[in-house]
Parts: sequence; C-alpha cells; structure tokens
Amino acid sequence: MSVKGKQGEAVKVVVRCRPLNRREETGGHDSIVSVDVKLGQVALRNPGRALPDEPLKTFTFDAAYDGSSRQNDLYDETVRPLIDSVLQGFNGTVFAYGQTGTGKTYTMQGQWMDPERRGIIPNSFEHIFTHISRSHNQQYLVRASYLEIYQEEIRDLLTESKDQGRKLELKESPESGVYVRDLSTFVTKNVKEIEHVMNAGNRARSVGFTNMNEHSSRSHAIFTITVECGQPGPDGRSHIRVGKLNLVDLAGSERQAKTGVKGERLKEAAKINLSLSALGNVISALVDGRSSHVPYRDSKLTRLLRDSLGGNAKTIMVATLGPASCCYEETLTTLRYASRAK
Ligand code: ADP
Ligand code: MG
Repeated sequence: MSVKGKQGEAVKVVVRCRPLNRREETGGHDSIVSVDVKLGQVALRNPGRALPDEPLKTFTFDAAYDGSSRQNDLYDETVRPLIDSVLQGFNGTVFAYGQTGTGKTYTMQGQWMDPERRGIIPNSFEHIFTHISRSHNQQYLVRASYLEIYQEEIRDLLTESKDQGRKLELKESPESGVYVRDLSTFVTKNVKEIEHVMNAGNRARSVGFTNMNEHSSRSHAIFTITVECGQPGPDGRSHIRVGKLNLVDLAGSERQAKTGVKGERLKEAAKINLSLSALGNVISALVDGRSSHVPYRDSKLTRLLRDSLGGNAKTIMVATLGPASCCYEETLTTLRYASRAK
C-alpha cells in the first residue's frame, strides 16, 4: 500500500450540521446547507447569489451528519474504531472544529444527564471501561489529564486552584517525546471517577473569566486519556502497551480579527488563527503523504499532539456547521478547511 493510502486512512474528516435553532427560525433565516448522509456530501447555497441558477458548492467527506443525526450514530460509525485502536495501544485524536455556536461542545460533551444526548467524551469513557471490565488476564491503568491552550499558553485544568493560573512549559526528551512539565494526571478506575475529573476541569475552565462562553470560544481544551495494558506474554513476562487518546474542543474558527480590533484582542486573534491554520497544515501534509515535512513545530497545539497525529496514530476531525443563511461565509470557510484536511 502506498504511503499516501495508508496515512490517508489514518485521518478521517466528517461534517456535522446542527438543526436551525429557535432564534434562527423566528428570525426567518433559511437553511442553506443540505446534507446527503448516504454520499457523505454537503451542499451549500449562496444566499446572496446573483444568478438564480448559480450552482451549489458541494463537498464530500468520509461521512456527513445532518440535524437529525444522533450522538450514538456518530459515535458508533466514526469514533468507536478509533477508541478500539487506542485500547490496542495506538494513539488517537478527535477534534471538533467550527465556528462558535455550531456544536463543537455538544458533539464532544453533549448533555451528560441524557443518555440520548451524551457526546463523544462520555461515550468514550463508557466504551473504555466496559472494554476493561470484560477483559481477562489483562491489567489496565487509565490516567487522565486536562489542559487548555489559551493565547499559546498552556494551563492545567486539574491542578489545585491556587496553581491554576500557572503557565506550563512544553518540553521534549528523547525518552518521553513531547510532554507538558508539571501537568497533573489522575488515575481513574471507573466511569464515575473519570467523569469526576472531567467535571472538575470543566469548572476550572471558567475560573477567572467573567465571560465563560467568550473564553471557551477562544481557547483549545484537550482532555487526554492514557490507557496502559499489561498482559503476560508467551515468555511469562508482562508486556505493556500504551495508547493515548486526545479529545479536543478547539477554539471557535470564526475570523477573529474583525476591523477595529486592537491591542490584546488582535494579538489573541492572531494566535488562534495561527494554531488553527497550523493544525490544518499538519493534517493536510499527513493526508497528502508526499510532503516530507510535516510542520508540527508551528504551534503549541500541533507540537503537543505530535505523537498522536500521523505515524500509527488515527485522527478524526469533526467539522461542525450551522445551517443558517446568515453564516454563509463562515460555513464556506469551515467546509474549505475541512476538505483541505481531506
Ligand atoms: P460550540 O461549542 O461550537 O460553540 P455548542 O456545542 O455550545 O457550540 O452548541 C451551541 C448550541 O446549539 C447549544 O445550545 C447546543 O445544545 C445546540 N446544538 C449544537 N449541536 C446540536 C445538535 N447536533 N443537535 C441539537 N442541538 C445542538
Ligand atoms: Mg463550545
């Protein structure tokens, strides 16, 4: 198999369009996105088109989910195989990419209390611990960490509150590769414990920020689960394999640098754009397979995830969209970004 074919399979890009919300409906916004679930195709209509017969823009992905798609469908069809490979000792990363308000957090987390609306993260917790409880003859160790990248700075979401403002350093060593110095990790023995860790981190995300939504739309949240499995080999000795799973809720992809933005805001905007475009460049170099240079070093996000993108690792990008006519430009930008990653 060609390098391209092999790596191409390691990266999956899927698109999910949320339903029109009440505000959009009462505001009289049309839906301009149509999803062909069978073909994995998304067609976008330009609401301001000059000619009535201007063709729709269509894009094809590994899968496309419409507003009626269920959390479980997305999990079973798209995410489950990646989690299975993490349980086999490979690394994997799931990203949610898209404009603020299009369903990144809904897709990653969903509504924890409603079994129908639990997102990728709670479903993967369930999956991992069910697998472990059914295994024989194997010893598992599951560890979790949770960090945030805001303005190219790394913050531990699981540390004691007095240390939460501290900026952590990204380090590199021949033995452990790239790692975050002093990042907290917690051993978790069951779903309840890992949920507890996740909830504590979610609470810490908002500390010190007056507007939580605004903050979360400008920072990347990375929840990492390491699954270590020890199994007696034919020689009687224990063999250990380690898989790592990164679950990433990215900063909003909307163009941040609107005219009139100055100072801190402009710097912040430039950094978000930088890390999202660095990620796009890395993924497209991996998909392309021919590039000898994968530009991991261009942002903290891509440096941090280096060992979980490319090589034997599997990657899923879920690009989220809203259907409303008002967001035509942003939706087109998201579709282009996602299809470039393809
Ligand atoms: P983001 O994290 O991208 O800013 P959210 O996940 O917070 O967006 O979603 C914005 C709103 O839309 C939330 O109220 C969420 O519950 C709702 N929503 C998002 N995706 C869906 C979906 N697929 N089905 C139903 N509601 C959704
Ligand atoms: Mg969000």
